Amino acid sequence: SAISSSDLEKLQVLGHGNGGTVYKVRHKRTSAIYALKVVHGDSDSTTRRQVLREMEILRRTDSANIVQCHGCLEKPSGDIAIVMEYMDLGTLDSLLKSSGTFSEAKLALVARQVLNGLSYLHAHKIIHRDIKPSNLLVNKNMEVKIADFGVSKIMCRTLDACTSYVGTCAYMSPERFDPDTYGGNYNGYASDIWSLGLTLMELYMGHFPFLPAGQRPDWATLMCAICFGEPPSLPDGASNEFRSFVECCLQKESSKRWTAEKLLSHPFLSRDPET
Ligand code: ATP
Ligand code: MG
Repeated sequence: SAISSSDLEKLQVLGHGNGGTVYKVRHKRTSAIYALKVVHGDSDSTTRRQVLREMEILRRTDSANIVQCHGCLEKPSGDIAIVMEYMDLGTLDSLLKSSGTFSEAKLALVARQVLNGLSYLHAHKIIHRDIKPSNLLVNKNMEVKIADFGVSKIMCRTLDACTSYVGTCAYMSPERFDPDTYGGNYNGYASDIWSLGLTLMELYMGHFPFLPAGQRPDWATLMCAICFGEPPSLPDGASNEFRSFVECCLQKESSKRWTAEKLLSHPFLSRDPET
């Protein structure tokens, strides 16, 4: 049966996002634990649009690597909420901060799962547009799931509006800034692959790959680095398979970037996890 808000008891705040708050909640009768993303009735129209978009996408998706939605609530006060499965280790960003950088074996597990989620999304004509460590959730079983669909795009008719400035600019691919130069044969799905490449590098190196550790740049500097610089590459010590995988994700020309489907057969993902 459907969950109503009076069934849920708030236990703690898990995070604040753009205009919304995510709570850990307990279902009073079943004791099941969920995450509840709440956007208040008095929030601005952009925030409301984003949470409605997210609801629409989570309702359509059913994949082991996309956060599961257990229902949506709308209160008379205008509050809107999404009941999601609770991911007990939080985001890959928080895991990086608490447990340090990821080994290649761990990253292969992460990459395989994110690609599995992305290939599902892309097959269903959905572009996430904000893939980054803080939008990837993880649980104790090391299951990784894509979350936060507030700026995602459902491609129904045309390949329009994919270059609009949504998402987190640091993870945006060259063609999102400069479609004329880097978007030959424009294909919005490839921008999620670029963001995945940067995400894996960041989890391996411990800092955003376009910048030296500790540096917080202005965004013009960053945009220049993304559009005019070489794609970042892994430091010495990384294996050839990992290096190759990241290169396949970080082709500046979007049509040369591998698809999620193709990357799932890359040798980096099929290595023996013990080596
Ligand atoms: P941001 O602007 O930080 O990306 P947002 O409004 O886009 O935030 P989310 O990313 O969906 O919102 O969630 C905000 C935070 O809440 C996350 O960074 C994470 O810490 C926590 N969170 C969200 N969903 C879950 C979940 N299903 N299980 C556990 N924690 C979650
Ligand atoms: Mg987020």
